[in-house]
Amino acid sequence: MRLAKRKQVDAHNQLGTTVTGLNRLARNLWWTWNQDAQDVFEELSPRAWSNLYHNAVAVLRELSAEELRVRLLDEEFNGRVQEVLRQFDAYLGATDTWAAAHAPGLAKRPVAYFSAEFGFHETLPIAAGGLGMLAGDHAKSASDLGLGFVGVSLFYREGYFQQAINAENWQTEYYSQLDPQNLPLEPVLGDDGQPLVCTVEIAAEPVSFRAWAANVGRCPVYLIDANLPANQPHFRDLTQRVYGGDNSTRIMQEILLGIGGVRLLRQLGLQPSVFHMNEGHAAFLALELMREQIADGAGFDAALAAVKPQCLFTTHTPVPAGHDRFGRELMDYAVRHLPGQLNISTDGLLALGRVNPSDDNEDFCMTVLALKAAHAANGVSELHGQVSREMWHSLYPEGSVDDVPIGHVTNGIHLAGWMKGPVRKFWRRKLGQAEPATNWAVELAKPEFWARVEDASFVSDEELWALRYKLRRELIEFARRRLQDQEHRSKPSDFIAFDHLLNPDALTIGFARRFATYKRAPLIFDQLDNLVSLARDLRRPVQFVFAGKAHPRDDDGKRLIQKIIHMSHHSKLSDHLVFLENYDVHVARQMVSGCDVWLNNPRRPLEASGTSGMKATCHGCLNLSILDGWWREGYDGTNGFAIGGDEHAADVKEQDRLDSENLYKTLSGEVIPCFYDRDDGGIPRAWIGKIRRAMVTLAAQYDTTRMVREYTQKFYLPE
Ligand SMILES: *Cc1c(COP(=O)(O)O)cnc(C)c1O
Repeated sequence: MRLAKRKQVDAHNQLGTTVTGLNRLARNLWWTWNQDAQDVFEELSPRAWSNLYHNAVAVLRELSAEELRVRLLDEEFNGRVQEVLRQFDAYLGATDTWAAAHAPGLAKRPVAYFSAEFGFHETLPIAAGGLGMLAGDHAKSASDLGLGFVGVSLFYREGYFQQAINAENWQTEYYSQLDPQNLPLEPVLGDDGQPLVCTVEIAAEPVSFRAWAANVGRCPVYLIDANLPANQPHFRDLTQRVYGGDNSTRIMQEILLGIGGVRLLRQLGLQPSVFHMNEGHAAFLALELMREQIADGAGFDAALAAVKPQCLFTTHTPVPAGHDRFGRELMDYAVRHLPGQLNISTDGLLALGRVNPSDDNEDFCMTVLALKAAHAANGVSELHGQVSREMWHSLYPEGSVDDVPIGHVTNGIHLAGWMKGPVRKFWRRKLGQAEPATNWAVELAKPEFWARVEDASFVSDEELWALRYKLRRELIEFARRRLQDQEHRSKPSDFIAFDHLLNPDALTIGFARRFATYKRAPLIFDQLDNLVSLARDLRRPVQFVFAGKAHPRDDDGKRLIQKIIHMSHHSKLSDHLVFLENYDVHVARQMVSGCDVWLNNPRRPLEASGTSGMKATCHGCLNLSILDGWWREGYDGTNGFAIGGDEHAADVKEQDRLDSENLYKTLSGEVIPCFYDRDDGGIPRAWIGKIRRAMVTLAAQYDTTRMVREYTQKFYLPE
């Protein structure tokens, strides 16, 4: 009797521990790159999982305590939950990490990585594009490698906008409120158990903020939130939207990020060894570090000299609009207090952001400040490094262009995070289940793993082709559902079925990214007649899936979207072309996995790196791209397709014309024939050969594991 009672109590305690464990798991983004963990949350309620847009925290809150308890009485399910929790704890507790061997010093004095945006997952939409995705992937790999690393950013209550298309095919924006309770976030608390509150000065007034921690595996990313009752309303709204408002909002957001970020870390007792500025948005952090020195009695020059060795700067674009510039009046208003704190004149402060310090007409540029304050700087691909040296030569007039101290570290992606579920399962089967790897993400970044893909006995053409079919079908079904919803929203009375749309056997080409004009989304329609006949070829049909957002204030970008949607209504293209609304991480994952070809046709050399094409590789989707950014170094003649060569025309019009001609030439002369060249069994052997080559040469090389190691060895570790 008593024994039975004791067993009951033990079982009860075990259930309680498991429930606590599940809640802990849901609030750590680690689950977003662990398939078993995702499967557990999905299985709790497939419908809630889909309706709540894959939000593990919200799914758990959807279930009553009783339902969860009873579900865990199922031994098989409970066993899987235990296994996931075991993996999770093993991951968090691992001591044999790469960094333990190669960068132990960073454990106590971490890298502090500042970025205005972080992209982790579709449930936390606080990124606008590639810059944020890169930051999120950087944090994930830092965690996988066991690096001492913390991130700093802003918590945007309304995130980045959601996109809808109106009857004029014009992008409209709407916002939904993010509720921290329903997100993988935890309040940052002070010693008294209350939310920690810090202060910065903006326009000579104190502005308070608190912070939320997003747990990215082992690494916290702190998100600053100015929405406090103590603040005046116009300051409360500063952290409302990603890149919202005007230049004045921007500079104030950047004060919160840079200056507020350093103060937050100090209050948390952190003494980072490196402050990594991801883009110029964060450059005010250097001024706060100088203020600390000056408050301790240092002179201005000594303060700058002391701060420099701690600062690293990564620049992300040659596009002028990507470099924040603030006029004298705005500086005088927003950072009025800074000259006093730094013991310099206003002109002295402005000089820090100018190429020519004494030129009163030059605005204060955050990139210039970052370059002056950092001991090292880098671009994000080899070509971008070169372009950045040319761009900023005037800051270093003593030497030649080659002497400009800007190097490069080519971007990557966090493979394990970007892989679609079935593909994770596919490669995990191949990797072998020997150790249901706590370090699976790091295993995936090993060139030795992908080298085996060359070998048909490791993975056969038939397996790869079947995988391609499965992924293409999943994309098409996703697109049909989405289009049905889109259509239903604009005309609630009509119910149109979209089952005829897109052909599961046809060569499927994808294009999705921010609709910045230099990315030239509609380039392929420059040769409209040719394109129509290619697309409609009965034996060798081609179809297109487009997606992407334009910045709310970018009407030129919105016109490009309008043009694509207009094309999708063209009588001869309508079954062959779709535009999916509201591009985000989830849509991106569907597209880079389901498409056969990933199209990228920026105006060279403006695509500093580009990362979406890297996400395609592990899914067997081939790149068709201008030799710009990462593709210029990734392409080797066997692993995808190049549009044009390694040169650029002097004149923009001429360049557009040449590129569209070359795009058409490669598409009709190489891509389509190769895809449709089938053997007796219907298998495109040469095409699959290219897929293998892409995996062997690109997958590990363009993983953020490689990238973070490179940053660590080149920049994070003191010489
Ligand atoms: C990967 C990604 C990007 C960046 O893509 P680029 O190729 O650099 O343009 C932007 N947005 C989302 C949602 C992404 O997933």
